[in-house]
Amino acid sequence: MKNEKSKAIFEEAVKYIPGGVNSPVRAFKSVGLDPVFIDHAHGSRVTDVDGNEFIDYVCSWGPLMLGHSPDIIVNGIEEVVRRGTSYGFPTAIEVEMAKLIVEAYPAIDKVRMVNSGTEATMSALRVARGYTGRNKILKFEGCYHGHSDALLVKSGSGTLTFGVPTSPGVPADVVKDTIVARYNDPEAVREIFETEGNEIAAVIVETVAGNMGVIEGTKEFLQTLRDVCTEYGSVLIFDEVITGFRIAYGSSVEYFGIKPDMVCFGKIIGAGLPVGAYGGKDAIMSMVSPLGPVYQAGTLSGNPLAMYMGKKNLEILRDNPEIYTSLREKAVRLATGLKRNIEELGLDFTVNDSGSLVCLFFAPGPIRNYDDVKHCNTQLFKIYFEEMLKRGIILPPAQFEGMFLSHAHTDEDIDTTIKASYEALKVVKEHM
Ligand SMILES: *Cc1c(COP(=O)(O)O)cnc(C)c1O
Repeated sequence: MKNEKSKAIFEEAVKYIPGGVNSPVRAFKSVGLDPVFIDHAHGSRVTDVDGNEFIDYVCSWGPLMLGHSPDIIVNGIEEVVRRGTSYGFPTAIEVEMAKLIVEAYPAIDKVRMVNSGTEATMSALRVARGYTGRNKILKFEGCYHGHSDALLVKSGSGTLTFGVPTSPGVPADVVKDTIVARYNDPEAVREIFETEGNEIAAVIVETVAGNMGVIEGTKEFLQTLRDVCTEYGSVLIFDEVITGFRIAYGSSVEYFGIKPDMVCFGKIIGAGLPVGAYGGKDAIMSMVSPLGPVYQAGTLSGNPLAMYMGKKNLEILRDNPEIYTSLREKAVRLATGLKRNIEELGLDFTVNDSGSLVCLFFAPGPIRNYDDVKHCNTQLFKIYFEEMLKRGIILPPAQFEGMFLSHAHTDEDIDTTIKASYEALKVVKEHM
C-alpha cells in the first residue's frame, strides 16, 4: 500500500499538533501504525492522500448515517454559507431543529443546542445537579461521555467505588462525586442507591455502550436505572451521542421502551458538522439560563450550517423509515458473515451487534461489560486491522470501538468486507 504522502504529512503534523492529530484515536497509535490522511470521501468510501480507496467503517465515528457527503444533504449548503456563517442572533432554523428533535423524542419537552457531545454531557450534568441540588453522579465503567473532568473517571479497586481520574490534570477533588459501577449489573446499581441514593443527582449511561466495542444494555439493567432514579428523585440521563437517531429514529426510547429524564445527542444530529444537544422535561430544562439560574452558553451553538445539515439529515431519516430496516439488515449480514468466518477458522472470538453497529472482539464471549472487554487480545487486533487496511477496508483503529454502517454501504461492500475479514483472520490465526 502506497503511503508516502500520508507519511510526509504526518512528519509535518507531529511538529505542530500534539501527536499529529486533533483527536487521539486518529493517531493509529493503538494499532502501531501511522495514520492515513484523508483527501476526500463519498458514499461508503474514503480516499487518502496517496490515492488509496477504502470501504469506511468509521464514518466520522457515527454521524454519517447516509454515508459521506450525500447530495441530498449537502446540496444547497453553498447558498447557506453565502447568507452568513454565524450571526450571534437567533434564527428560525434553530427552532425547526429543536422541534424536530423534541417531536422525535417523547421523553423531553425542550432541547438546547451545543457544539459537541462533550459539551452536551457536561452541560446536562450541571443542569441535573442544579435541578436536584445534589452533587453525586453515577456512571458506568467503559462508557465514554466526552472529555469533561467529572466524567474522565475509571473505577478504583472493587466494583462499587469512587472514581479515580483517568487523566492527569483532572483533580481528584473534581471526581470525588463521580461513582463508577459495572455496566449491565443491576444489583450493583441497587446497592449503590440503597446507601447513597438520596445524594445522587444523576445517572448517566450509554444505552448501547459504543466505546468499549459494542455492548447493548440489557432491558433489566436499563429498567433498574429507570426505577431507582424515579424512586430516589435522581435524574436519568441517556447519553445518546452514538445511539441517538441511529438505533431507531426514536432512539433508545423507541428501541428499549424506557424514558430517561434527560438526553444528550451529538454526532448524527450534525450529519458531520460540529453539533451536540441536551434536552429534558420542562421542569428540568427550566433551570437553564436565561430561563433559570444554571448557566450554559455557546457562541457558535445552533450554527446555521450545522442546523442546515443536521435538520436535513433528521428529516430524511424521519421520512424514510426503511433506511433503518435496511441498515439493520446490513449489520446482520456483516455480523453473520464475521461469525461464520470465526467459526470456519475455529477461532474463539465474539461478534456483538446492535442496530447498525457491529464489533468483533478478539476474546471469547459473552462480552457484557468492561471486565469482559479487558480480555481482548489487542495484539491480534493490530494484525487484523493492518491486514484489513491492506485489503481496502478501514476499521476504527482500536479494538474497543464499533464499526459504523451507513445507508451508503451496499451489500457488495459488506460481502467484500466479509471476504477480506476471512483472509485477515487467517493471518491472525498464524500469529496465535
Ligand atoms: C463521541 C461521544 C461523546 C463525545 O462527543 P464529542 O462530540 O466527541 O465531544 C459523548 N458520548 C458518547 C456516547 C460518545 O460516543
